Amino acid sequence: MKITLDSFLLLTFLWLTAACQPKQKVDYIIHNVRLFDGVEVREEVSVVVDDGKIVDITSEIGRYIAEEVIEAGGYTIIPPLIDAHVHISSLAQLHASLREGVFAVVDLHSPPGVANKLKASRDSFLHASLLSSGPALTVAGGHGTQFGAPIPTVTKEREPRTFVADRVKEGADLLKIIREPMLPTLDYETIGALIKASHQFDKLAVGHISTAGDATKISELGIDVVSHIWLDRKMTDEELSLLQEKKPFVIPTLLVTRELLQFREKQGGANHYLPFQDIRQEVNRLHKAGITLLAGTDAPNLGLKFGESLITEMKLLVSVGLSETEALKTATVKPIQAFGLDQNLLPRRGHSANFILVEGNPTVDITSLQKIKEVWVMGKRTKK
Ligand SMILES: [Zn+2]
Repeated sequence: MKITLDSFLLLTFLWLTAACQPKQKVDYIIHNVRLFDGVEVREEVSVVVDDGKIVDITSEIGRYIAEEVIEAGGYTIIPPLIDAHVHISSLAQLHASLREGVFAVVDLHSPPGVANKLKASRDSFLHASLLSSGPALTVAGGHGTQFGAPIPTVTKEREPRTFVADRVKEGADLLKIIREPMLPTLDYETIGALIKASHQFDKLAVGHISTAGDATKISELGIDVVSHIWLDRKMTDEELSLLQEKKPFVIPTLLVTRELLQFREKQGGANHYLPFQDIRQEVNRLHKAGITLLAGTDAPNLGLKFGESLITEMKLLVSVGLSETEALKTATVKPIQAFGLDQNLLPRRGHSANFILVEGNPTVDITSLQKIKEVWVMGKRTKK
């Protein structure tokens, strides 16, 4: 290219204008970091944080003066994690979650009033946020009633819609519907009516299942999210096609399933379940069929830990055939999509500075998630 005097003067003018621009003062620059924003991985970028917000993600930091530059070569920023299946009873559980980078949990059954109390008393800098179904929809003597705390149960005498209306009035963010044939359970007709009523109130319906047949049937009835992988038999190709068509999200809860099988084996009663290897294979089939999986733990059932167990769940999802980034999505973008959560839970320009700084590269080695160095909550750093 031939540079004329005119264009030379223009370029010089532009350069001088840029050079003379006052630099923008910011709180932090996380320099030279790898960033997984929930969709793509970017290498060697700088994340600029000011006043609790991500003001820029760039490879050009010349225009900023930061109070602190954090050299983060060899580290990765990932989005906050979300646990799609827990049972909540205390602020300590929400605190333990956030400390491990789990910014939001979905409570799928807790005694009446518990979630409301926790939501009212939680501190956004200290505790994970909470989405809750409140008490699950089940029948007298059914699954969900065996844990001690009295809960209302669905009866034939009242319209299914009334039960959903009651939960919504109590503040439920979504509905949990139990189909568990090991105990007395809701019939399909009632489940269909409960799903319909949930949708009329503009709420998601999450279904608990333990059998392949029930997973298929409640999907056919329009459930939005299926919780747990089935244990009784392999799904037929026809059943799997129906799930493909209906597209429910599925929370396999592999870790708690593995623990349950081990627990039952010790009791000598595990032989009518699929072996864990086959259960893993079923999750692989779902994934291959394009069904969206969500990471959920079912903590604190069977001793699972808030926060920590979600990382083990993601490791198990990688072991059944998901790539590392796919596994990370099951606890980040996918639950945001499934539950309509706040987009500020993704580290993007203009969003609140919520993210996790991890040593190593969890986008190729999921075990790096055991090396969380810092959790950033709305721009505030918590070192581990
Ligand atoms: Zn559960």
